Amino acid sequence: MALIVQKFGGTSVGSVERIEHVADKVASFRRHGHDVVVVVSAMSGETNRLIGLAQAIQEHPTPRELDVLVATGEQVTTALLCMALHKREVAARSYNGGQVRILTDDAHTKARIQHIDDHNMRTDLDAGRVVVVAGFQGVDEHGNITTLGRGGSDTTAVALAAALKADECQIYTDVDGVYTTDPRVVDGARRLEKITFEEMLEMASMGSKVLQIRAVEFAGKYAVPLRVLSSFEEGPGTLITLEEDTGMEAPAIAGIAFNRDEAKLTVLGVPDTPGVAYQILGPIGEANIEVDVILQNIGEQAKTDFTFTVARGDLARAEAILRDTAAALSASEVRADPRIAKVSVVGVGMRSHAGVASRMFKALAEVGVNIQMISTSEIKISVIIEEKYLELAVRTLHSAFELDVEPEDQTAKAV
Ligand code: ASP
Ligand code: MG
Repeated sequence: MALIVQKFGGTSVGSVERIEHVADKVASFRRHGHDVVVVVSAMSGETNRLIGLAQAIQEHPTPRELDVLVATGEQVTTALLCMALHKREVAARSYNGGQVRILTDDAHTKARIQHIDDHNMRTDLDAGRVVVVAGFQGVDEHGNITTLGRGGSDTTAVALAAALKADECQIYTDVDGVYTTDPRVVDGARRLEKITFEEMLEMASMGSKVLQIRAVEFAGKYAVPLRVLSSFEEGPGTLITLEEDTGMEAPAIAGIAFNRDEAKLTVLGVPDTPGVAYQILGPIGEANIEVDVILQNIGEQAKTDFTFTVARGDLARAEAILRDTAAALSASEVRADPRIAKVSVVGVGMRSHAGVASRMFKALAEVGVNIQMISTSEIKISVIIEEKYLELAVRTLHSAFELDVEPEDQTAKAV
């Protein structure tokens, strides 16, 4: 029988009815003989409500007191879930972070887990009890309550699974898995049976907000098999794993990610001399503005054009900084364009399949989408395009890479 860590997010425990529903699920796993550790979030909206109370008193409460306050949200759900389990005659005990002893550093409101003591949980599991742990929190070495940052219950679940060497960490949420792309953009988007950690990080960082990125990184580092599934519908969800499909029929691409939150800045006619890239991007970095895609063109007469993208919210600040730099470099012009978007094809299969880039560019050319910039990594190719073509581009690529076709059908086609 397996040891499973199950995490239920805020909407999954958002009301007494939903908590009872979670208890049914947990009870059924228990009755199948599995050892179960459950991690819960606060009821949906509760953490925000608590922060609101704090701010009604003080605009900047001390982080220590804020942690004492917001950590209560998760404690409420642990107790209610245990009661619901007891009602079903399932033995269960609740724990807050300090009771488990989830030891963290002392960085209040964004603490990092340093060590987890599994002794108390093991004792309960050995006695046949379900262990219910408050997510998102721990204690520092002096016993102060700490929290892990918004969405931190995912990280708690993965960390407990790693500490207990659990067979699987299941994250129950309001979607039934990870999709080949956003189903709101492409009707034919398909739930993936499996995705690698690397792919998931590329997909997640571009807006498929299923899981806290930090939790995915953590799970990858400690090789914790992670499964995302719906708490409202039955189904296998999506397994996030270290294993790659290496067979000949393994798809080149796992999914299409996109991001509208991009803006483009170009400075024209800067001298083509060593150090220019640094002169342009140095001040941007110092202002804590993250640069995404970069393009440099050789222009005429030892002049060059330099283009880069930033998040839209940073555009105005970045443009002001760039105008100063441009004046210092006697550049001819600065242009800003907030109406761009990034579309990426993501897949570890790219490492062994040639021609992914040309297939991507051909598909976009056929529907008349102009590519403004390109950037590549080992498992991702991204293009910057005009924002108004974003949905067309995503749909086109989704079918060009046959992502709407079930894998079995793809094999049939290859034979
Ligand atoms: N309750 C916390 C939050 O809302 C932690 C979590 O839900 O994961 O951010
Ligand atoms: Mg959450």
